[in-house]
Amino acid sequence: MAERYLKREDLAKLIDSVCSGEGLFVGPKMDGRQVVYAPISAYKDIVFDYIVPRNSFKEFLFPQTEVIARYAVHKDGIDLQGVKAESPEMVVFGSRPCDAASVASLRSVFTWDFVDTSYTEREDRMVIMTIACTDRDEGCFCSTVNLAPDSVGGSDLFLKETLEGGYLVDIVTDRGRTFVERFEGIFSAGGADVDIKRIADVPRLKGVDVKKIKEDLRDTSHYDNDDLWAGLTRKCIGCGACTFVCPTCHCFDIADEGSALEGERRKNWDACQFDHFTLHASGHNPRDTQYKRWRNRFMCKFNFYPNKFSSRGCVGCGRCIRVCPVGLDITEVMEEMSGR
Ligand code: SF4
Ligand code: SF4
Repeated sequence: MAERYLKREDLAKLIDSVCSGEGLFVGPKMDGRQVVYAPISAYKDIVFDYIVPRNSFKEFLFPQTEVIARYAVHKDGIDLQGVKAESPEMVVFGSRPCDAASVASLRSVFTWDFVDTSYTEREDRMVIMTIACTDRDEGCFCSTVNLAPDSVGGSDLFLKETLEGGYLVDIVTDRGRTFVERFEGIFSAGGADVDIKRIADVPRLKGVDVKKIKEDLRDTSHYDNDDLWAGLTRKCIGCGACTFVCPTCHCFDIADEGSALEGERRKNWDACQFDHFTLHASGHNPRDTQYKRWRNRFMCKFNFYPNKFSSRGCVGCGRCIRVCPVGLDITEVMEEMSGR
């Protein structure tokens, strides 16, 4: 039995409570014709009928751009001041299980050889309220990467929609329990006799085996088969959209903006799909063609990441498939690689 019950209309009180304490309430909201994760200040703005928002919510943990230091040159020297990242309390309502799972992937990379506190302090204050998926589209393939429409990993609270329009709430983490206890009047006890909506069925992609892909990509004859990669990815125009919407892509660049006398140092999203991403100052570029850049992204997801970390490089959200302007489908490459 679920530990708590949340009425849909009580979300209004939750939003008010979080926002009045200067917290940020993030949830699914319309942006033009698409649903996105965005800050929400009013219950009426929440969208309840969606599969997966267009963006991931990584931008609230790892902003597209942020100032990390300011510098000023004086006659006596240089002032360099680090800028502490803002980390307000954040509540993500309506996360999908794939997105909740992706947070462990981001944490792996931001705490690996250096602990990036601008990331960890934000994540440590984020409460993730995931809703189990009751629908899917052709882009979803979470089960193929060993997740499911009701996977709880990465969530603090796990919600299942009821037929009457509320949510059964499972408490997954201590952070989730503290949150529920803080808003005791909003999360009521029980929910014993309430029927839940049917969880979506996301079948595994036929013939795709991520373990085999990981092992086979170690075989350099696959890696070095330039004709294979060029053929599979020839459509790619290097726009980088797949990386920006991907919940696990995390590459960034550091750039100084301002004059020679004063300015700020920024951390900006970057993408391995851009031609200058690996361009050396000498003019040499080790990934000098698009297929090499695309191969790197695939290797990162299915070989580098799973070999280095216990978390996933890909959570099967399907965003990169939906957003790609030329219809390059990562699952087709997974199929090809599984057959080799
Ligand atoms: S979205 Fe498509 S075209 Fe753009 S970089 Fe990614 S794979 Fe290439
Ligand atoms: S690679 Fe594509 S399917 Fe996998 S997590 Fe990133 S956007 Fe989602």
